[in-house]
Amino acid sequence: MTATVVVADAAITDDGARGPTAVLAIDGAIVAVGDPAPILADPRAAGATHLAWTRRAMVPGTVNTHNHSFQSLLRGIGDDLPFLEWRDRALYRYSPQLGAEDMATAALFAFGEMLLHGVTTVCDFYYLNAQGNDHASATIEAARRLGIRIVLARCFYDWDGAPAAYRETIPQAVTHFEQLARRYQDRDRFLTTVQPAPHSQHGATPAMIEAGAGCARDAGVPWHIHLAEEQYQVDQSLERFGRRPLHAIAELPVDLSQMIAVHGCWFDATERALLAERGGALAYCPGSNMFLGDGVTDVVDLVARGVRIGLGTDGGCSNNRVSVFDEMRMAALLQKVHRTDGQAIDAETCFRLGTRTAGETLRLPIGQIATGFHCDLVTLDLDDPSLWPAQALEKNVVYALSPRAINDVVIDGQEVVANRRLSHVPLDEIQARVRDVTRDWGRG
Ligand SMILES: [Zn+2]
Repeated sequence: MTATVVVADAAITDDGARGPTAVLAIDGAIVAVGDPAPILADPRAAGATHLAWTRRAMVPGTVNTHNHSFQSLLRGIGDDLPFLEWRDRALYRYSPQLGAEDMATAALFAFGEMLLHGVTTVCDFYYLNAQGNDHASATIEAARRLGIRIVLARCFYDWDGAPAAYRETIPQAVTHFEQLARRYQDRDRFLTTVQPAPHSQHGATPAMIEAGAGCARDAGVPWHIHLAEEQYQVDQSLERFGRRPLHAIAELPVDLSQMIAVHGCWFDATERALLAERGGALAYCPGSNMFLGDGVTDVVDLVARGVRIGLGTDGGCSNNRVSVFDEMRMAALLQKVHRTDGQAIDAETCFRLGTRTAGETLRLPIGQIATGFHCDLVTLDLDDPSLWPAQALEKNVVYALSPRAINDVVIDGQEVVANRRLSHVPLDEIQARVRDVTRDWGRG
């Protein structure tokens, strides 16, 4: 049994901001939260590892519900191009060359940078599988080295217009998913979770989508799918299936209550109502939607309807940042300007979208500083001017926080960032690996 006691000068819990706070975690799970004196006197805290965070606030670790780690390697290469040109000149040109070691480099890069920005759980929507699990395994192993919690959303992809490295047959995708889950599914501490991810209506046939959702049902986990990201995808769905995207998916024998729709920028009122009615969830990526000019998901309406929503950064070449704190701010600003209403959504709601409801979206016991949740924490430096005045902590975290103030990160009770440095993998190593892989990229 390993016990950890954390004490900080301030905290944001489900009841909002509070003063000095202590957390006791045993084997990675929070068993007590409250004022420091009684927690320190708890007999279970005897012999615990102590982390004393003076002049720091602790907040729940942020949860990134949608990312493609390999895309960090493509950051800045092909930005500002029309989509098809970017896809052919950057994505389809470089990504099929990558091997398992390169995937490990991409994952160390993406996840290492995320840790430094306070991300404690990342969902990697993984579609460069090359008809096997070597790449996904290398990605999971990289996450384990860093100490970040990972959901590997293994893609189901069969559109024949994409590079061969993306594609599988249905039996291949099912078998590979099951093998990967058998090897890595951690139902005790949830440090690694494997979930199926039929790519999209354009990347997966209806039969492939059904197969992915079926694997999710058998494994008792959610499934992910990109839906209605760009307007043309609605037109395509109407043309191919005679129905808008979510209605077309709902026609299939799949469980929408376990579905995590990614983006949903062009869901209309009937689709938003259906998502709420069936208990489906949404991974919302406002930074990426703005970067690519996709459109605006009506998150204010979805929140009002009670839909579970988690924020995502999306890939490193469609944002191009990797911070969920940044997405909280982006979500707020985009929703406000879209409705031309400064009160359309508030900081507290956006904070929850990056923590508590993001954990609920992935169906994991994470995202809250509360008993029964895993001990994933981030500390913020109260001496950083971006958090002044101190009495407005929660508003300032969402609207004003500088990444410079992110000081320490604990995942499952273990320190993985201390004083702005990764604890387990030297940043120099990651930098050298990124340089080696991308040396000749983007040079004509
Ligand atoms: Zn995506």
